[in-house]
Amino acid sequence: MKKVVIIGAGPAGLTAGYELLNNKEDNKEKYEVIILEETNEIGGISRTVKYNGNRMDIGGHRFFSKDKEVMEFWENLMPIQGENSFDDEKLGREKPLKSGGPNPEKEDNVMLVRNRVSRIYFLKKFFDYPITLKLQTFTNMGLIRTIKAGFSYLKTIFVKKKEDSLENFYINRFGKVLYGMFFEKYTEKLWGRHPSNISADWGAQRVKGVSISAVIKDFFNKLFGRKNKENTETSLIEQFWYPKYGPGQLWETLAKEVEDKGRNYKKRILC
Ligand SMILES: Cc1cc2nc3c(=O)[nH]c(=O)nc-3n(C[C@H](O)[C@H](O)[C@H](O)COP(=O)(O)OP(=O)(O)OC[C@H]3O[C@@H](n4cnc5c(N)ncnc54)[C@H](O)[C@@H]3O)c2cc1C
Repeated sequence: MKKVVIIGAGPAGLTAGYELLNNKEDNKEKYEVIILEETNEIGGISRTVKYNGNRMDIGGHRFFSKDKEVMEFWENLMPIQGENSFDDEKLGREKPLKSGGPNPEKEDNVMLVRNRVSRIYFLKKFFDYPITLKLQTFTNMGLIRTIKAGFSYLKTIFVKKKEDSLENFYINRFGKVLYGMFFEKYTEKLWGRHPSNISADWGAQRVKGVSISAVIKDFFNKLFGRKNKENTETSLIEQFWYPKYGPGQLWETLAKEVEDKGRNYKKRILC
C-alpha cells in the first residue's frame, strides 16, 4: 500500500484524500492517507469559525460549479433541501426543492438553496454586481456617466490593450469608465493589490467569460424566458447552494468521512 501525505485540510486536501481512499483494488484501499493541517481548523479559507456559539465564514462562499461531477460530489455529502426553510416561507421564496430531500427546519445535514444578492455601494447608491442591464443601473449612474461608459466601452471594441495585467483584462471587457466604477477599488480591497499589479490570468479564472456581451446575452435570455444553464457564467448565477451551518460545515462533514474511512489508523487528519 502506498503512503500519501497531504499538506492542508482545506477543500483541495480533503477532497484529494477522500478520492484516494475511494480508489480501491480488490475492495482494498490502495493508499494510506495522512493529512497534515497546521491550524486547528478544517476547511482552509473556506472554513467557518466558531466563536462564542456563533459561526462566522472567513469569506462568504457560494457552492456552485459548472462541473456536474463537483456538484454531485457536494450533494452526496450534503443533500439539497426538500422542504422550505422558515425564511423561504416567510418571504414567499420559490426554490427548486429536491423531492425527498431533508427539511432544513428539522435536519442539520442539508444544503440550502439561496438566492444571490451581490451589490456594490458606489455614489451612495447600490449597484447590482455583476452589472445588470436595467433602468435602475442607468438612473444610478446618471446620464453623463452612462454616455461616457458607453463610449469608453465602444472604444474597447476597436482598441484592445495588451493583457499583461488584471487592469487591462477588465478594461478590454468593460471599458475604462466601468472598470473604474466597479472593479478597480473593489479588487484592491478584496485582494490587497491594485489590479495593475495582478496578473491577467487571475481575472480569467475569477470572472471567466463575464463581459458586457455576456451581460447583454444574459439580459436577452431573461427577456425571452430562455434558460441556458449549461452556459451560465459562474459570476452571473442567481442561486447557489449553502450548507445550513456555513461553508465549513461541508468540509467538516468531508473530514469526518475521511476519518471514518481510516478505521485501521488512529487518525488520518493531524491538526
Ligand atoms: C473572500 C473569498 C470568497 C470566496 N468565495 C468562494 C465561493 O463563493 N465559492 C468557491 O467555490 N470558492 C470561493 N473562494 C475560494 C475558496 O475559498 C478556495 O478556492 C478554496 O478554499 C481553496 O482550497 P485549498 O484547499 O486549495 O486551499 P485553502 O483553503 O487555502 O486550504 C489550505 C489549507 O492548508 C493549510 N496549510 C497551508 N500550509 C500548510 C503547511 N505548511 N502545513 C500544514 N498545513 C498547511 C492551511 O492552514 C489551510 O487549512 C473564496 C475565497 C475567498 C478568499
